[in-house]
Amino acid sequence: MKNIKELDKQYVAGTYGRFDIQLDCVQDGKICGEGKEYIDFGTGIGVTAFGACDSEWVEAVTEQAKTLSHTSNLYYTSPCVSLAQMLCERTGMKKVFFGNSGAEANECAIKCARKYSFDKYGEGRKTIITLQNSFHGRTLLTLSATGQDVFHQYFGPFVDGFKHVPANDIDALREALTDDVCAFMFECVQGEGGVIALEKEYLTQAEKLCREKDILLICDEVQTGNGRTGSLYSYSQFGITPDIVSTAKGLGGGLPIGACLLGETVENTLTPSSHGSTFGGNPICCAGAVSIISRLTDSYLEDICNRAKYLWDKLACLDFVECVSGLGFMIGLVLKDGMDTKAFINACAERGLLVLSAKTKVRLLPPLNTGVETIDKAIAIMTEAAKAIKS
Ligand SMILES: *Cc1c(COP(=O)(O)O)cnc(C)c1O
Repeated sequence: MKNIKELDKQYVAGTYGRFDIQLDCVQDGKICGEGKEYIDFGTGIGVTAFGACDSEWVEAVTEQAKTLSHTSNLYYTSPCVSLAQMLCERTGMKKVFFGNSGAEANECAIKCARKYSFDKYGEGRKTIITLQNSFHGRTLLTLSATGQDVFHQYFGPFVDGFKHVPANDIDALREALTDDVCAFMFECVQGEGGVIALEKEYLTQAEKLCREKDILLICDEVQTGNGRTGSLYSYSQFGITPDIVSTAKGLGGGLPIGACLLGETVENTLTPSSHGSTFGGNPICCAGAVSIISRLTDSYLEDICNRAKYLWDKLACLDFVECVSGLGFMIGLVLKDGMDTKAFINACAERGLLVLSAKTKVRLLPPLNTGVETIDKAIAIMTEAAKAIKS
């Protein structure tokens, strides 16, 4: 009989370069498979916010699965409302549209910005400015928004109306904000692009320029959101107030959910049947998300910042780390002396620590409840891994 890896290669579309690792279950907070156990500093790419199968989340999701699993958006249900209310009260945003992924949250954000402009100014104001090196998703619209040439292959024609400008270059942005522009879209910390935080001063100036022309600010918090960077959403640390915020990944704690948060300017832009999603607002996904967001109190977020700082300090002391980038528990590492990122990541896995990459960097997205003991263990494994590939 063929094993899981062989069957995967035979039957699952080959769109992923998987690690040579099979994962089966969680035991004592560690991910297990093939007789090995791992500290998980990848969290399913920033998804399992409090670790895979965290008990509060499991309880919330199983209770909801037994109560009411799915109804469609033709009816009112409680978990979806609770989550929307919680998100609005915590952020000051006014309304929420629910989808199932980050790309869908961004689709909603872009459609909403274009409709806002169409309703107010008519045709001809459809362009969205995004940043070079950004990542906004894999659908044709969000690939078009993504400011990296490698994503603009094979699948054309792409969607018109996107212009990509260099990050942290306020003159380039000023020049790009012509009369055909309706929105400026960005990640406060570029994730897939290499865990790079934007400059605060740049975003302050960008917000000012956009406000002068009624150009909407769309903040893509798909990866940075839901406590990942030490605040509920990262934009608050950059002192700006977006009109639209998209989020997903960590929001559902492991189930597919995306949310597009709509501020006052656009709260009534999306009207009945102008947008929709069959699974959006699914009760089980929303119950899981409520269990995540309700734990991210201000004091808990402060606690995340303290533990993240402990990790940053430890990383800065490692002799094989050139520099540390990112924010909070969203971290990129440049390794010294041309040390091979892929070899390092594999060496960590062999020693029981799962980490990710972003471009040429090592990327760490640990669970938000990671304590100092686990951090110390992870640091020890990274040190061993670096030693092993150097020799
Ligand atoms: C992951 C990601 C997306 C896409 O999310 P999916 O759930 O894979 O569709 C969009 N934007 C950013 C910033 C992301 O990190």
